[in-house]
Amino acid sequence: MDLLSGAERRYLEETRREGAFRCAQCGERSAYGLCVGGQFLCEFCADGAAEKLKAQYAVVYAESQEQFSQFLRWWFDSLTQAEQEDILRPVYRQQKECERITGSRKIQTVAEEFCSESGGFRDFIRSRMKEELEELP
Ligand SMILES: [Zn+2]
Repeated sequence: MDLLSGAERRYLEETRREGAFRCAQCGERSAYGLCVGGQFLCEFCADGAAEKLKAQYAVVYAESQEQFSQFLRWWFDSLTQAEQEDILRPVYRQQKECERITGSRKIQTVAEEFCSESGGFRDFIRSRMKEELEELP
């Protein structure tokens, strides 16, 4: 995604050729600047407009090739547990179906590790078996 519109790009190219552009806020001539909210600001004034800069470019930055992997985790961690589960449930089912077809045992391996760590495994099995025995005629 381009950060600058065609007109903004042309303006920056022209002023760069001239060696400077005039900051819309302080009026100083500067060799380099940023476009914030449709205005061209020198770096000093752009620092003062950090919140505007964030509002305008935060998603572009977060989705950039360099940041996206880290942002993805950041975004996921920002969700509630219920929202995370809504996302993961279909992915888990799909992975399980995929493993059924390919014969991969990643889920089995992780489930076994989970049994060792969770602590309630034996009680769960004991309770389930008892229920099944009680259902016998
Ligand atoms: Zn300025």
